[in-house]
Amino acid sequence: MYQALLADATFHEQLLVFDRDIAASARAARCRLCGGALHCGSYARKPRGGPAGLGPEHAERFSFCCAVDGCRTRATPPSLRFLGRHVYLATVVTLISALMLGTTPARLARLSVIPGLDRRTLARWRAWWRSSFTERPFAAFARAALVPPVDIAALPVSLLERFAGDVTERLIALLRFLGPLSGGASTMRAI
Ligand SMILES: [Zn+2]
Repeated sequence: MYQALLADATFHEQLLVFDRDIAASARAARCRLCGGALHCGSYARKPRGGPAGLGPEHAERFSFCCAVDGCRTRATPPSLRFLGRHVYLATVVTLISALMLGTTPARLARLSVIPGLDRRTLARWRAWWRSSFTERPFAAFARAALVPPVDIAALPVSLLERFAGDVTERLIALLRFLGPLSGGASTMRAI
């Protein structure tokens, strides 16, 4: 089920539409510091793990720069496609992490069809889920929003289970929930 979603180009097109909507809202809200107009400042990423055949627009991280001289503040809205500085798509980080929870050697072998995805990357993702929900500022937000608290060791499956609907709807709700982690904060190290 998770693997089918990973390969589903239509699903990725849907996420792109959501990201465009979020970006349009962020632009309409103007500069958070001076209220100035925001100009397009999108930049290219090289996302890994998506299905073959996605157009170049799927590599575009929507972002804006304030048009006012002396301000020029950058505004990078939340994204359902990019998760901070993870080089793999947010969907890949989430679904592969979910698959890994009940892993078997055979399943691990199947996962290796995603280029460059090795055990060290998977271990880093596992550590990232844990630290995001226990240590970083996001943890306070998550604790307030999730009552009773999610089982940290079972992330991200324990989080997917908190949302209603089919797998697609749950994943979209999860990606929206992770929005505060998806911004372009330069302080986050590449993972
Ligand atoms: Zn400004």
